[in-house]
Amino acid sequence: MTATLFIDGAWVGAVAGGTREIRNPADGELVAVVDEADEQDTIAAIAAARRAFDSGAWSGVPAPERGDFLLRVAAGLRERKEEFARAESLDTGKRIVESRIDMDDIAACFDYFGKLAGQDAGRIVDAGSADVFSRIEYSPVGVCALITPWNYPLLQAAWKIAPALAAGNAFVLKPAELTPHTAILMMRLLEDLGLPAGVANLVLGAGATAGGPLSTHPDVDMVSFTGGLVTGRLIAANAAATVKKVALELGGKNPNVVFADADFDAAVDNALNAAFVHSGQVCSAGARLVVEESIAERFVDELVRRAEGIRLGGPFDDEAESGPLISAAHRDKVHAYVQAGIAEGARVRCGGEFGSGELEKGFYYRPTVIDNVSRGMSVVRDEAFGPTVTVETFATEDEALEIANDTFYGLAGAVWTQDAARAQRVAQRLDHGTVWINDFHPYLPQAEWGGFKQSGFGRELGPTGLAEYQEAKHIYQNLAPAVSGWFPEH
Ligand code: NAD
Repeated sequence: MTATLFIDGAWVGAVAGGTREIRNPADGELVAVVDEADEQDTIAAIAAARRAFDSGAWSGVPAPERGDFLLRVAAGLRERKEEFARAESLDTGKRIVESRIDMDDIAACFDYFGKLAGQDAGRIVDAGSADVFSRIEYSPVGVCALITPWNYPLLQAAWKIAPALAAGNAFVLKPAELTPHTAILMMRLLEDLGLPAGVANLVLGAGATAGGPLSTHPDVDMVSFTGGLVTGRLIAANAAATVKKVALELGGKNPNVVFADADFDAAVDNALNAAFVHSGQVCSAGARLVVEESIAERFVDELVRRAEGIRLGGPFDDEAESGPLISAAHRDKVHAYVQAGIAEGARVRCGGEFGSGELEKGFYYRPTVIDNVSRGMSVVRDEAFGPTVTVETFATEDEALEIANDTFYGLAGAVWTQDAARAQRVAQRLDHGTVWINDFHPYLPQAEWGGFKQSGFGRELGPTGLAEYQEAKHIYQNLAPAVSGWFPEH
């Protein structure tokens, strides 16, 4: 086995010799064995990042040159796209076509931040006096811990790596323990392109051990975390002791609001996509369908018919339309949510069961539509992060909004209507970080992404996504120094 931790510009194994088997969730086959870091490996990676940052080897490179480097990362990724996409599909079980789309999106993200880095010249401030020159300089934060989940492994990492490097930081990346391979390939690419040693470090392993020091160690200046709410709370609490900068991208329970005047076929088709793409393992999944009473029955009947037709299969099965869940434990968690809903009186209209036959080798769960629900049920309130959608109905616009905003999350939501004025009205009143009108799921590298309420704080992508990795420093120069006279001489 080749070493898979990347610390201080070298590929190394874990000091304690730990390893982990990575298995393809589609069939349980062994993908590879990788090194499993613990606290001491992560502390070594933090030390390497600290040294690299303090040396100025990267933070001292002019911003346009850092930007050019990111453009070369984008180009390198495009060249190696198939290798990256295959690795992503083997780790996650997602269809290869979806992984290829992810790789295109990742390259676009590096392009975006590469170009943005070159424009970063700070800001002149009008101090209101000809004798003062005042400016804002954007400095890198320092050593950034980047902690990412397993659903879009390299995409979520890229949303952090690209702006962190653009701003001149050093980082330690800890991807989810189940999906390490595209992070390994990314480090190889950064190494091949000549990033100075210690600027990019990779530790693999479990959250509490490999991840633990990332939120507690005093040499880490910032933690950017994407993952679940419970872990996010813990990381923010840990980071408070050394007052680290923290950015949290957490979960969602995202409403998809459909008015009776919506384009029916487009709304049904996209409701299917909203809930079931990547088997619902999407932070912005439209897992809460909120549909106007007058069309609800016809809409849900059609949704169920379409959901029942979704073909499940492995990443390289050309016939497959959706893949497995990430692990047996996760599939069981999704099933437990559905079962809890049934116990509380919900009705499963389709799905609610594991994949059968050949699919039993993997961790498949049938697309599940659930109605007869009420707002207090956990199946409506909590994020299942699987292929489930609940159905609620409304009679008025106010009622639709009240339902859609009745969640402690606030990541994303959609409204479907052909009434342009209503679309804008509803979009303005939805308390979610992203709102789609007559669409679901698209995002742009140049548009901020992030959550309201307990979906987190901070933003990824867009200009704010770069600002997260910067400190704004005010430099004030008095061009005509003089005695101030504040304290009289005695
Ligand atoms: P998770 O919280 O279990 O794990 C996320 C990462 O945190 C993993 O790398 C894990 O190893 C690490 N981790 C766990 N405990 C840690 C600790 N004590 N210290 C440091 N690191 C620790 O989440 P998951 O199950 O991997 O991902 C699913 C969750 O991610 C869902 O809730 C989903 O909504 C969320 N998510 C959010 C977004 C977004 O943009 N808002 C995007 C993707 C996923």
